[in-house]
Amino acid sequence: REEAVHDDCDWTSGANGVGKSSLAIALAGDTERTASVDSEGEGYMRTVTVDEEDSTIVIYDNWRQDLSALQCEVCVLVFSVTDRRSFHRTAQLRLLLRETQPQTPIILVGNKSDLVRTREVSSQEAMSSAALYNCLYLEISASLDHRTPELLECAVRLARGESPWP
Ligand code: GDP
Ligand code: MG
Repeated sequence: REEAVHDDCDWTSGANGVGKSSLAIALAGDTERTASVDSEGEGYMRTVTVDEEDSTIVIYDNWRQDLSALQCEVCVLVFSVTDRRSFHRTAQLRLLLRETQPQTPIILVGNKSDLVRTREVSSQEAMSSAALYNCLYLEISASLDHRTPELLECAVRLARGESPWP
């Protein structure tokens, strides 16, 4: 079974520096066993076992095609909790996505949870915003690999059409 998991959707210039590429690499896992699937090296293919079932997934960083061409099973919208602008950007992208791909499950991800002192967006605010749009919200640290395994599992379950939690 093949499922595509998207790391952000900044085909219309999403926020830079929020940690999308770091997250894609964290999700791709052991690079010895991961293959790049596109010429720019921005797609990673791997097989994961979730709930005792194997799935082959493709993780794309920085989707650059237009929205109508977007074909993914799950979209992960990433902002940095230290960058309020990037949070607003994900809200815009979420609206666009809901217009063109109403069926695609969206996971809102607040990255850089390790940067406590420079935080600009509270968990509560992000969670409320996600709830409004029926999105899952997860707070992670891509560089510490904190909660990235959970994100991967939730994304795979959503791609399978299941509930995100076991
Ligand atoms: P992108 O532009 O969204 O792809 O962001 P990158 O993955 O290139 O990351 C931008 C910068 O943020 C890099 O210096 C990363 O090391 C740093 N970064 C990414 N994730 C985290 C994180 O969880 N915590 C911290 N403190 N820094 C991070
Ligand atoms: Mg990047």
